[in-house]
Amino acid sequence: MSNPETLLELRAIAQRYTSGQRVFTALEGIDLTVHAGEFVALLGPSGCGKSTLLRIITGLQRPTSGQVLYRGQPLRGVNPHATIVFQTFALFPWLSVAENVEIALRARGVPAGLRTPRALDLLDRVGLDGFENAYPRELSGGMRQKVGMARAMAVEPELLCLDEPFSALDVLSAETLRNDLIELWTGGHIPTQAILMVTHGIEEAVLMASRIVVMDKGPGRIVADIEVTLPYPRRRKSPAFTEIVDHVYGLLAGQTQPEDIEMGVAPGEPGPTRALPEIAIHDLTGLLEHVARLPTLRTDIYRLEDELSVGSDHLLRLIDAAELLGFATVVQGDIHLTPLGETYVDASILGRKEIFAARIRRLPIFKWLFAMLRATANHHLEWDVVKAALALEFPPDETERQLTTLVDWGRYAEVLAYDTGNSLLALEPNAEPNIPAAARDGGAPQSGL
Ligand code: ADP
Ligand code: MG
Repeated sequence: MSNPETLLELRAIAQRYTSGQRVFTALEGIDLTVHAGEFVALLGPSGCGKSTLLRIITGLQRPTSGQVLYRGQPLRGVNPHATIVFQTFALFPWLSVAENVEIALRARGVPAGLRTPRALDLLDRVGLDGFENAYPRELSGGMRQKVGMARAMAVEPELLCLDEPFSALDVLSAETLRNDLIELWTGGHIPTQAILMVTHGIEEAVLMASRIVVMDKGPGRIVADIEVTLPYPRRRKSPAFTEIVDHVYGLLAGQTQPEDIEMGVAPGEPGPTRALPEIAIHDLTGLLEHVARLPTLRTDIYRLEDELSVGSDHLLRLIDAAELLGFATVVQGDIHLTPLGETYVDASILGRKEIFAARIRRLPIFKWLFAMLRATANHHLEWDVVKAALALEFPPDETERQLTTLVDWGRYAEVLAYDTGNSLLALEPNAEPNIPAAARDGGAPQSGL
């Protein structure tokens, strides 16, 4: 695309909130430009100011300082070209589905005679054909959200802002609605020129957006901005897709040490094989949740022993695991959660498993184990066989512990199964989005990153 039209420009936006004596900086130094044709996903931990930013962009809120330009003009009051769809879209329960859309058309000054056909057309486009006369209470959560989308589109916004539009939905409705939105967007069936979507889902962002803006908090700011050039429709399991997901995880994870040192090499390769810290996942989660609750100025590691009632060995192993997985960084005796660590703490149980799975899949020791399992006929191996292979790398007493930890982590992430009855390790179907080692290591990068 050559020289696309600039719709939105944010310049040095800051937002401070005052409560009593304290001033809290929710956003600082935000520069962001959105062009026609872009689908921008805003990704970042809770509290990094994503909703605040959408309110500023739509003109529902004036920033403390900085400039909002729309099509080159400073924004005054509510932005007439932008509409926002919230997590749960409030429908009027006493109006039918069609009437709920018509009311938005009336507010826009569409003449009475044109409202009904226009509303029916919009409902048809979001796949609610046949439900025009139903009432909101008769609809599923997913269908209600579609009415919300239809209503937002009735306004024909140039810029459609979505604040976690799928997070209140069940898994299936969310996926259907995501695909519907992508289809509407890529099919050119809506007058919308750009979409700005807040999300917690890393895969969701890669599935839908042409650009991903990553934010962090303390204060809320932009830490990365990447393009996603994969063609639509995107396949979650394709190597190029997984590669970008992995890259975004890396952006959220920050870095304590260079990756090759931190992760070590696979068993059998020259160089040190990184031993996994022997920890239980719920202890790690406990540590992360605790650190997330600490006031930002107070993150000394030495205090954590008492606060969590753990011995220093155990604590150091937990911190080691948090760093290895990219959930935390340690600088001068202070521990800080990375945006990924924050995202993990905020996520649902399933969301946590998804994040955990994505992180362990990149560890050489897991790649090695998966490759071995994949190479067998039934995708399973005996405990003792794997143990014998690991014994070449680790001291005898360490080997058993490594294998136990591998299996624990793999089971939690639902990428590995272990049957204690016959002592067999097996690959879970979930271990795919898996890239055969050759495609990943040898193939040319396909992501355009
Ligand atoms: P996000 O959507 O990324 O979770 P928000 O934009 O909702 O973040 O909030 C960013 C930060 O600003 C949070 O710490 C929140 O508590 C604070 N905040 C948001 N709105 C207000 C407000 N009206 N008054 C005071 N603090 C607020
Ligand atoms: Mg929010």
